[in-house]
Amino acid sequence: MSNQILNTKINFIKGIGSAKAELLKKELSIVTYENLLKYLPFRHVDRRVISPIGSLSTQDSYVQISGFFKFFDITGKANKQRLEAIFYDQTGSIKIIWFQNFSWVTKKFQSTNRYFIFGRLGVFKDEIYLAHPEILTSEEYDKLPFSGKFQPIYQTTEKLKKNYIDSKKISQYISSALDAVKGQLTETLPDYLLKSLRLPGINEAYENVHMPTDERILDRSLKRFRFEEALLMQLRAKINLIHRKKTPTSIVFRKVGKYFNSFYHNALNFELTNAQKRVTKEIRADLGSGYRMNRLLQGDVGSGKTVVAMMAALIAIDNGYQTCIMAPTEILAQQHFNTISKWVSDLNLKIEILTGNIKGKKRKEILKSLEDGSINIIIGTHALIESSVIFHNLGLAIIDEQHRFGVMQRAQLSTKNTEQLHTLVMTATPIPRTLALTIYGELDVSILNELPPGRKEVVTKFYYNNQRIHALNLMRKQIEMGHQAYIVYPLIKESEKLDLIALEIGYEAVVRDFPMPKYETGIMHGKMTQEEKDFVMDRFSRGITDILVSTTVIEVGVDVPNASVMIIENAERFGLSQLHQLRGRVGRGKSQSYCVLIGSEKLTQDAKDRLRTMLETTDGFKIAEADLNIRGEGDILGTRQSGDYIFENLVLTRDEAIITHATKIAQEIAENDPNLSKPEHLCLKKLLISKYKKGFSLSEIA
Ligand code: ADP
Ligand code: MG
Repeated sequence: MSNQILNTKINFIKGIGSAKAELLKKELSIVTYENLLKYLPFRHVDRRVISPIGSLSTQDSYVQISGFFKFFDITGKANKQRLEAIFYDQTGSIKIIWFQNFSWVTKKFQSTNRYFIFGRLGVFKDEIYLAHPEILTSEEYDKLPFSGKFQPIYQTTEKLKKNYIDSKKISQYISSALDAVKGQLTETLPDYLLKSLRLPGINEAYENVHMPTDERILDRSLKRFRFEEALLMQLRAKINLIHRKKTPTSIVFRKVGKYFNSFYHNALNFELTNAQKRVTKEIRADLGSGYRMNRLLQGDVGSGKTVVAMMAALIAIDNGYQTCIMAPTEILAQQHFNTISKWVSDLNLKIEILTGNIKGKKRKEILKSLEDGSINIIIGTHALIESSVIFHNLGLAIIDEQHRFGVMQRAQLSTKNTEQLHTLVMTATPIPRTLALTIYGELDVSILNELPPGRKEVVTKFYYNNQRIHALNLMRKQIEMGHQAYIVYPLIKESEKLDLIALEIGYEAVVRDFPMPKYETGIMHGKMTQEEKDFVMDRFSRGITDILVSTTVIEVGVDVPNASVMIIENAERFGLSQLHQLRGRVGRGKSQSYCVLIGSEKLTQDAKDRLRTMLETTDGFKIAEADLNIRGEGDILGTRQSGDYIFENLVLTRDEAIITHATKIAQEIAENDPNLSKPEHLCLKKLLISKYKKGFSLSEIA
C-alpha cells in the first residue's frame, strides 16, 4: 500500500541514521518519507549560468564560476588552520576557503585545468569568498543531468549545516525517497481541475520540483503546489463562510431600540457620512439576520470607524446583550473609554475599562459586574481575553485595529461566551487586495471609503536633518494659530536605550526652542507608568499641552482633532504603514494639517522608496501596495509574533494571478458543493480536514 511507505520513518534512507533523523525532526519537522517529499526547495539555481568573477557582489547568494586555481596556502593558528586558494577568470579573482578536511584538495586540483565552482558566497569584512564549494571538472560539469543544472536549493539551519546536512544532502535524501515512493502518492486535486488547468499530477509534480527534467515541467509543478495551497486556503474560507450563513444563531438582535435612537438623535453631534450610514445598515442587517456576523470594517485612518462600532454596541444593548471592545494598546483603550463615556453620558449605561494595569479591588469589581451583567460595554486591551473574564451574556465583540492582534487572540475571544458571538473587526491599515483575499476570505467586508466632510488632505514634506528649522517654523506657526503638534521618535528594542536618550535630547531641544510658560511640551514613552501616560495624554487631548514629544506609543488610533502637525524624526527608520498610521494622527479636524518627515542624509534605497511613497500619496491602499512590494507579506502581517498566515509556497507579490484564480475556483466549488460530498471533491475534503482540523466547519460533520 502506498501509505505504508509514505509513513515510513526517514531513518531507513541511506545515510540518514537515527542521529540525523532526530536532527531533521527537530530542525525541520521531517519524520517520514512523506514529510521529506513535501519539503519543497525554496528556489532553483540555474547552473547553466556562469558568472564572471569580477561581477560578483556581496548581494549574490548562490553563484557558479569557471576558471583556474592560482595559489594554495595554509594559514591560521595551529589549531585553527585553514586552506585558502585564489581562483580566477579573465574578469577577476576570488578566495576559496576550506576550514577543515582539506588535505585532499591540493592533491586533487591542478592549476592547468579548468574547473567549475558552485557555492554560496560568504562575506567577510566586505570581501567575498566561497567556503567548501562544489568543484567540478569540465567533463563532470558537461555530464550534469538537467536536475544538476537546474539545482533545487533547500532551506537548512545552522545546526543542520554543522552536522553536514546542507541543501545538497537534503537533495540526496529526497532523491532516495523519490525512488522508494515512485508514483505512489495519492492525488489530492480533482482530476477535472488538473485537466482544465493543465497541471501535473501529484507524483509528477513532486518528482519535478525535486529533480526537474526540464524548465517547463518544473514551472508547471511549482504552479501546481502554489495553486493547491491557495485553493485549500480559499476553499476553507468560502465553505466556512457559506456554513456560517446557514447555521442559525440564538443571538438575534431583532430591534433597534431606545439606546440606539437616543444616541443617534440626541448625542451624536455630527451628521454621519454616507459611508458610515451604509456600513451601519450592513451591520444592522447582519445582527438581526439570525446568523452570526463576522464582518471586517476597513476604513482608512480618520474615516470614523469608532462611531460605527458604537452604534453596533448600542444595538446589542438594545437587545439585552453585552458588548466588548478590544484595542491593541492601553492608550487607545483609554481613549475609546473616554470618547464613548462622553457619548453615552446621558444614556444611563455602565461602561468600564479593563487593562493589565487594573488590579486588585477595582479589577475584582469589574469582573463581578461583567459576570452579573451590570456592565453594558467593556473596553480594554487583550486583558479581556484572560480566562478570568467571564461575561453574563456577551453578544458582540468589536476588535479595533485588528491587524495588531493575532488570529489566536481573536479566536480566544470568540469562545468567551458562545461560538455564536457576533464579531466586528476593524482595521485602519488598508491591506493589499491579494492579502485581503487570502486572510479575510471568510469575513464579510464593509468599507468606509469616505472621510468626514471638510477634511483637507495632509500636506507631507521631507527635510534633511540639517533643514529641521523649516519644520520648527511650521510648527510654531500652527501653534500660534491655536493648534497642537506631535514629534515622534523611533524606538526599537535593539537600540532602546539610545533611542530613549535621543527622545530625551529631542525633548530638551524643543523645550529650549519653545520655552515655558508660553508653550507647554509633554513627553511620552512606553517605559512610563500608565498613570503618567494617562496624565500626559489627557493634557494633550484637552489642548493644554501644545507639543507632544513621543515614541510610537501614539501610533494607532489616537484622536486629537486639534493637532495639525506631525513631525517624524528619523523617518527612514519607520515602516511605511507605521508612517501612514502616524500621519493619520493629524488631519482629523477641519483645518489644514502637515506631516513633516525628517531624515538622515544617508538613505538606503528602501528608505528612499518608503519616503517617496509617503510624499506621493495619502491613499492608504496605495501605501499598502507599495509596502507589500518593499517588504513582503511576512512583515506586514507581523506573522512572526502571531504565527498566523505563514504561507508555505505562496509569495503574494509573485502569485497574485494564481491566488485570484484559486479564489474564483474555490468560490465555485463552495457554492456548488458546500459539503464537498461529490465524489470528485472527496480528496479536497480529506485534505482540508487534515490540514485545518478545528478551523474548518466540515471537520465536525466529517
Ligand atoms: P478612525 O477610523 O481612524 O478610527 P475615528 O473613529 O477616530 O477614526 O474618527 C476620526 C475623527 O473624526 C473623530 O474625531 C471623530 O469624532 C470624527 N468623526 C467621525 N465621523 C464623523 C463625521 N461623520 N463627521 C465629522 N466628524 C466625524
Ligand atoms: Mg480608530
